[in-house]
Amino acid sequence: MKKPETSLLGANTQSKGTINNQAQALDEGCTRCQACISHCAFLQKNGMPGDIGASLLAGEAPIDPFACSLCNLCTAVCPADIDPGAFFLELRRQAADQLPLKPYATILGYEQRGSSPLFSWYGLPTGCETVFFPGCSLPGTRPEATWWLYRQLSKQVPHLGVILDCCHKPSHDLGRHPFFVDQFKAINDRLMTAGVRQIIVACPNCYKIFQEYASGISVSTAWELLAESLPDLHLSAITPVQVTLHDPCPLRDNQDIQQAVRSLISGQGLKIREMRHSKKRTVCCGEGGSVGSVHPELASRWGKIRRQEAGDDPVITYCAGCAGFLSRAGIKTIHLADLLANPAKALSGKITASRPPWTYLNRIFLKKRLQRALRPDQD
Ligand code: SF4
Ligand code: SF4
Repeated sequence: MKKPETSLLGANTQSKGTINNQAQALDEGCTRCQACISHCAFLQKNGMPGDIGASLLAGEAPIDPFACSLCNLCTAVCPADIDPGAFFLELRRQAADQLPLKPYATILGYEQRGSSPLFSWYGLPTGCETVFFPGCSLPGTRPEATWWLYRQLSKQVPHLGVILDCCHKPSHDLGRHPFFVDQFKAINDRLMTAGVRQIIVACPNCYKIFQEYASGISVSTAWELLAESLPDLHLSAITPVQVTLHDPCPLRDNQDIQQAVRSLISGQGLKIREMRHSKKRTVCCGEGGSVGSVHPELASRWGKIRRQEAGDDPVITYCAGCAGFLSRAGIKTIHLADLLANPAKALSGKITASRPPWTYLNRIFLKKRLQRALRPDQD
């Protein structure tokens, strides 16, 4: 596991400086090489990051940062080592006060319900220093696989607790920074007070949020822990087939997690064919930055890239959000948790992810099941 972060909440944001400083850095640092725009429809529409920075400094009409998926592919491929992704997030924060929230009512309602008393729960048994934080989407769409993950992890981690809550990534990405900071700080404070020092996540978005903002708490993924115990997993025998793999963009810089996932998949006897855009250069599934709520034509461009690169191979991913978006783009998609929990059924396409309103019922039933299993000291 990584060491606990000691940075203060939000300090990272402050250190990025003002929008004008960031715009100047883009203008001066960008060599206009065009490496970043070849697969990004947002940049194809708005121009190279250096030109976007220059036009902002010149007081020209601003671009719409809510059309950027915040996937950071531009940052990943930039040979000049500048960070357009951080600039577009900061632009969102500057514009958030004027942002009409109506188009985002679905995602913000989802976030609000995730942290409500009905769906959230802190199961912290005596002696608990490590918790499993499965996020919102996985328990709703795949309660059996979430339960399987919890059972496997609890064999490896003594006094493992479970937290059902929302990390508030939707508000983070919509630039609602003061709200996000308040909500996330409440989670962080509650965990610290309870003595929790390590958190195991199953969602790439939760990982990114905890990695960037948690104070005094380290974060790792369920996939890394499971890969450590691969010989003990007793995975069932399946017909070896070729699959391909979609890395979620929040984890593009996390090679250890990417490798752990590949070990788990090849440990099943499956042959992995890497797509052109994988690992550090992976592309967004279409969900990033809630762009689909306001610019569905831009969001769907990512799915087209994935469909072309996947061909006829089943695509395995380790993000419930990505799994949903890729499936809706017509790609045969399998969540890694389903593959591990029930490989034969997952590969035969017989596992169907639940959809609303069943996702909410699933979360309530899973919460009850976990409460019975944990007999916690507090809830
Ligand atoms: S959509 Fe991704 S690649 Fe395009 S500008 Fe935004 S962060 Fe960069
Ligand atoms: S890859 Fe970097 S240097 Fe090249 S156009 Fe994009 S931002 Fe500018």
